[in-house]
Amino acid sequence: MVSVNEATEIILKNIIKPRIESVSLSNAACRVLAEKIVADRDFPPFNRVAMDGVAIVFDTFLKGQRQFSIQDIQAAGEPAKVLKDPTTCIEVMTGAVLPEGADTIIRYEDIEVKDKMAIITVDDVIKGQNIHSQAQDAKKNDVLLEPHILLSAAEIALLASVGKSRVDVFVFPRIAIVASGDELVDVQDTPALHQIRRSNSYALQAAIQLMGGTSTSFHLVDQKELLKKELQKIVDDHDVVILSGGISKGKFDFVPEVLEEIGIVKLIQQVSQRPGKPFWFGVGKHKTVFALPGNPVSTYMCFYRYIRPWLLKNFGLPDQSLFAVLATDYKFQPKLTHFLQVKVRNEAGMLKAYPDAGGGSGDFANLKEVDGFLELPLERSEFKAGDVFPYYPFRSTL
Ligand code: AMP
Ligand code: MG
Repeated sequence: MVSVNEATEIILKNIIKPRIESVSLSNAACRVLAEKIVADRDFPPFNRVAMDGVAIVFDTFLKGQRQFSIQDIQAAGEPAKVLKDPTTCIEVMTGAVLPEGADTIIRYEDIEVKDKMAIITVDDVIKGQNIHSQAQDAKKNDVLLEPHILLSAAEIALLASVGKSRVDVFVFPRIAIVASGDELVDVQDTPALHQIRRSNSYALQAAIQLMGGTSTSFHLVDQKELLKKELQKIVDDHDVVILSGGISKGKFDFVPEVLEEIGIVKLIQQVSQRPGKPFWFGVGKHKTVFALPGNPVSTYMCFYRYIRPWLLKNFGLPDQSLFAVLATDYKFQPKLTHFLQVKVRNEAGMLKAYPDAGGGSGDFANLKEVDGFLELPLERSEFKAGDVFPYYPFRSTL
């Protein structure tokens, strides 16, 4: 048996190199960037007019001139015009190129226009104002984005502006979800009294979907030889296999021995945690296998505690550790790390966690009441309101 920290270390050491695929920019949101993005031009690419108004020569203003005859108009999308006479001005529109010769823009709010004359009505003018200078934000060939970042709207805008109609992103591994247990039937079936629907498969599938991945589901029975044959095929065809059920001390819990018999090297069996103590983890050649206890709460928590961080690490995403403040005193006697289900409220900018432990690892109805779990360390049995602990959220937000 290993500790939660030891288990975490072993799992996060065994990451796999994700494949790369090219997707269209319109499908790149929420994917993880797999290439370096450089600026193909300066940002902005020209001295950009930042306000609708008139472009003037600042020195002329400084010498006291306030009335400028309007020579021309410079719209966005037109090549630069030339301000030939420094005592005149050109009307300019936001997004236009600054006319050659001009160096300052006075916005419409600060002028009156009469008989083709712009009369400046303010005195506080600064040379260069209202101009977004060429390369002010980034220079051509500057690195704008490094690989291993999650693409959100801001990055998509940058990709669009440098002309990346297609972009390289990391591919999710091929994941198999394997439910094992003779008592399990599929969602569309009507279970007999002694049977249950295999809800874990769908919970795991959804948790992966929420991260942008897909998976294939299998159901295996509690017969050793059949299990071995089927599991061998499933392992061959996938990069990652997530099993639930069949790993405890029951007479028909064949999963750990079968995994070893088909060549998966066991790296973890049992973690000093509740729920999820029987947790099993092993690797084969380019294969990663997580075998989770079948109790729905254990399956769920082990996914969020171990598998999700492992998937994020494969993509090279930074650790997303969160912490929350325990809102009420709590006791947990067993010498195990406890994953305590909590409701979390943001109170004055602080995440406050209210315990709602539910009725044990079989009580998955309680999961809909909570937002995540706090990780309470094994060394302690009394936890005080105000103490801070690692927090693993599992509720998705839109
Ligand atoms: P096991 O880990 O196989 O001993 O199963 C522990 C408990 O979890 C049993 O009550 C099983 O019926 C239940 N269980 C196992 N697999 C699933 C599943 N896929 N969906 C829902 N419950 C399950
Ligand atoms: Mg079972």
